[in-house]
Amino acid sequence: MIRFRERLFKDAYAQEFSVSKILHEHSTGHHHLIIFENELFGRVMALDGIIQTTEKDEFIYHEMLAHVPLFARGDASDVLVIGGGDGGILREVVKHPEVKRIVHVEIDKAVVEMSRKYLPNHSAGAFDDPRVELVISDGLDYVQNTDRKFDVIISDSTDPEGPGEALFTKAFYQGCHRCLSDRGVLVTQNGVCFLQLDEVKTTAKHLKEIFKDSHFFSAAVPTYIGGIMAFGWATDDRTLRKVPQAEIARRVDKIGIKTRYYNAGIHNASFALPQYVIDAIK
Ligand code: SAM
Repeated sequence: MIRFRERLFKDAYAQEFSVSKILHEHSTGHHHLIIFENELFGRVMALDGIIQTTEKDEFIYHEMLAHVPLFARGDASDVLVIGGGDGGILREVVKHPEVKRIVHVEIDKAVVEMSRKYLPNHSAGAFDDPRVELVISDGLDYVQNTDRKFDVIISDSTDPEGPGEALFTKAFYQGCHRCLSDRGVLVTQNGVCFLQLDEVKTTAKHLKEIFKDSHFFSAAVPTYIGGIMAFGWATDDRTLRKVPQAEIARRVDKIGIKTRYYNAGIHNASFALPQYVIDAIK
């Protein structure tokens, strides 16, 4: 039996998957991409030896990164998704009828193509939604140069190495700030905070220097091993992460979307952080 050992934490600590079948593997020019089957997690995609997504637990990550900012706003019409080539974030964003335009900026066309082919349930047709405009480009370059404004920006990036490194820089967060509308919100994938606390600290420092309100929210996603995953939150509107639970519940009911992890209780609770994270981001 072939085995896939993740290389995120080098030799210090790793998760390993049995590979029942390799569905696709090639070097895209940006990444080494592999999609394989595992008997517990279904289809699994890794880029440069690091797990990106699995069929079994992707809903937790995608629902949280999409619905927390969208329901906090309740009225977002323009959304920018950066990274997220598997289409899982898009699938959740298109469930919101108030969203009128979605620009999706992904650096690696092959991730989109191979995900559409081998992970079709991630996007579930969202790439064909008429509101979606796919732009194959570097996310940093896009936020520094676009004239468009967005109510919500979702950074669904790889970890900060390779092309993903640009999406953790101060220049990227400044670029996002310049293309957010008034009351706009940026959310980011920020790693597993117990093992990647420096990543959280650096992002916290940058966000604090640029936005009036910044914080993190969290969820436990089994294949992002090592504890809870931190998601960055940044906006100039301090009220947005304090929307009462009853109001979030009203907004969720109004749209009537079906979720498997996200709900109004989880929304508000996800902003409560462990003390070691609070101390790290002070
Ligand atoms: N949920 C995943 C995780 O936390 O590991 C992230 C998955 S998603 C597949 C990450 C995407 O970010 C990849 O498709 C990658 O090509 C894209 N990406 C990396 N760097 C980028 C950049 N500078 N601009 C735009 N997209 C980028």
